[in-house]
Amino acid sequence: MTTTPSDPAKAMPAEVMPAEVMPAEVMPATAMPVTVGASTVGASKAGSPTVGAPKATPASLPDIDAFTRPYWDAAAEGRLLLRHCAACDRPHHYPREFCPYCWSEDVAWRQAEGRAVLYTWSVVHRNDLPPFGDRVPYVAAVVDLAEGPRMMTEIVDCPEADLRIGMDLDVAFRAEADVQVPVFRPRRPS
Ligand SMILES: [Zn+2]
Repeated sequence: MTTTPSDPAKAMPAEVMPAEVMPAEVMPATAMPVTVGASTVGASKAGSPTVGAPKATPASLPDIDAFTRPYWDAAAEGRLLLRHCAACDRPHHYPREFCPYCWSEDVAWRQAEGRAVLYTWSVVHRNDLPPFGDRVPYVAAVVDLAEGPRMMTEIVDCPEADLRIGMDLDVAFRAEADVQVPVFRPRRPS
């Protein structure tokens, strides 16, 4: 076989390890600007945290760095961004600094249409990670964006009984502290 690239991320072809469907819990926070499970603001209770050392950023909020800043700035304006590779003309998500398909670093932000279909979902009834325990039940979902990439998100404004694989969705943005988190809701008849 060929020699192993030194960068472990590059050693995993996208076809073998579809990062888009990995649970948020196992993703590096800096690489996963999608928060799943966030719900209404103001849900945190008085009292001390029960798990771990104090963190600078609550679990429900992204760690924003220089690389992901444009994503969150656009979200604040109601726009969803994807990374687009100029070398192979393919978009990807979550955002990476190189293309997961051809490894090119000629990758830039491009605005997505904000339309998607529901690939799969799970209604979360228990989550011990603050502040999500105060927000259950919520609908954690994976959606297929119109541009192609698959994205972890949350479905809102939809009764559980109305959820259908393949249903049409539109992006929406929910205020979470001082960031706007992309979520999806059923497309309304126009
Ligand atoms: Zn590419």
